[in-house]
Amino acid sequence: MSTIPTNTRRNFIGSGIAAALAAPWLGTRAAEKSVGPDRVSEPAREVPLNDDADVIVCGAGPAGVTAAITAARAGAKVRLFEAHGALGGVWTNSLLGYLLDFDKPGFNQELVHKLRERDAIHGGVNYTPGKAFTAPIQGLTYHPEEMKLLLEELAVLAGVKVQFHTRVVAAHREGRRLTTIVTESKSGRQAWRAPVFIDTTGDGDLGALAGCEFEIGIEKACPCQPLSMVALLLVKDARALSDLIFGDTSTSPSEEAKAHKALFAEIQRAGVDPSYARPIMFPVRGNLVTAMFNHEYGINATDAAAVSEATMRARREVNQIVRALRQLGGVWEGIQVVATPEQIGIRDGRRIVGRYVVRKEDVINGAGHEDSVVKAHGPVDVHALKRGADSVPGYANFGIQVQPYDIPLRALIARDVDGLLMAGRCISGDFIAHSSYRVTGNAVPMGEAAGAVAALAAQTKRLPHEVPWAEGAAVAAKTRRA
Ligand SMILES: Cc1cc2nc3c(=O)[nH]c(=O)nc-3n(C[C@H](O)[C@H](O)[C@H](O)COP(=O)(O)OP(=O)(O)OC[C@H]3O[C@@H](n4cnc5c(N)ncnc54)[C@H](O)[C@@H]3O)c2cc1C
Repeated sequence: MSTIPTNTRRNFIGSGIAAALAAPWLGTRAAEKSVGPDRVSEPAREVPLNDDADVIVCGAGPAGVTAAITAARAGAKVRLFEAHGALGGVWTNSLLGYLLDFDKPGFNQELVHKLRERDAIHGGVNYTPGKAFTAPIQGLTYHPEEMKLLLEELAVLAGVKVQFHTRVVAAHREGRRLTTIVTESKSGRQAWRAPVFIDTTGDGDLGALAGCEFEIGIEKACPCQPLSMVALLLVKDARALSDLIFGDTSTSPSEEAKAHKALFAEIQRAGVDPSYARPIMFPVRGNLVTAMFNHEYGINATDAAAVSEATMRARREVNQIVRALRQLGGVWEGIQVVATPEQIGIRDGRRIVGRYVVRKEDVINGAGHEDSVVKAHGPVDVHALKRGADSVPGYANFGIQVQPYDIPLRALIARDVDGLLMAGRCISGDFIAHSSYRVTGNAVPMGEAAGAVAALAAQTKRLPHEVPWAEGAAVAAKTRRA
């Protein structure tokens, strides 16, 4: 993080001046200087600066794509940067396939309606507009490819400027205020300036780059929740596997437990001891299913080398299990991997400290807040931190009974930096609360809230923490299409 010399706004001074002038990003650079056995200092360089946006959203997962569409619908000029080549984050780039705690008004329902129109969603919702929910909260399964397409259509329709394969790699402040981010992509290094930024990178990359305090894992460092690779599989006849596929005919927690056990036994019968003690499959469409067989333990999401090794290990395991099941024949005859994701599923990244920290006590006591942007219902869901570690195989809730609790706007506003909001799994909360609210059914309303407040702040020349939620809520409501 560095503060910017204001007299060179258009040509933002970074490192490697000569190179940037000669050949935008490929030209020869002034030699870097070695500053020790394991470090070099890069020469300063000029980076093109763009400042045509009111709101810049970093990371296009469930929270980010919702924030960008909401802010654009509220009239703001919005740029959305995504490291991969599709919108949707865990929904698409990690092939998740299952929506939890999704029975909420707003963009959640718009997605459900539109996916249903495309025969791209399974499972029932308990939500009737204007009516209170009826428990239990059921999960919905969707078609990841249809989700990609739908999100792109909605983003383009709203006027969001999307840039794929673009990673946020630096952030610059003037005093406490975040003013500029830097991205790397095939277009080289680019600087972007805007009045308001939203960190929806899942791992809190922007907050950390801007100098915010953060927590990760149980406290300041891992252990963290395990990673998982979800795969898209084709089976011979999904109906013949219905007692092993959750969410099609079986929806209750006890049926879920039965499906886990039965599938685990089948994988063991095929001769493999899976890394995840509660493997599960979900219906997608016809004989397409998603499957979560894999867990990668003890990986810090910010350690690229460890995530890479885990990704290759996971892909190997998923293919090993599918091959072994195919060998069994019968209902498994012809089962094959259709796709594994390029982005392994990450549950637990950085949690940027906000103006309020959602804590275990909030979850236990069902805390209420005036500036509530969403009410979370999800169980405490901590997956095993080590293979075969805990008493309850797979995941545990530490005996905590969740009382539906509010996520306040203050947990979405960075404490240490002005002009920065967060939404999704990188908001301000402790490990236990995070394990409950991190699901996509909450990431979407958080994105709606952050997008609405960001647009309003930019349009009224205020900082996000100066915008009362009542105003933000009114703007969010106007952007709804369902
Ligand atoms: C294996 C697994 C199973 C889960 N099961 C469920 C479930 O069944 N149902 C459910 O609702 N939730 C589930 N969750 C939780 C849920 O998916 C996440 O918490 C959700 O992803 C939160 O959304 P997000 O938008 O905050 O983050 P993400 O979905 O992680 O999106 C972040 C986006 O930011 C991008 N990005 C990251 N860094 C940068 C950068 N520096 N520059 C630019 N772009 C960047 C990423 O590529 C990604 O697209 C599961 C999570 C995992 C990992």
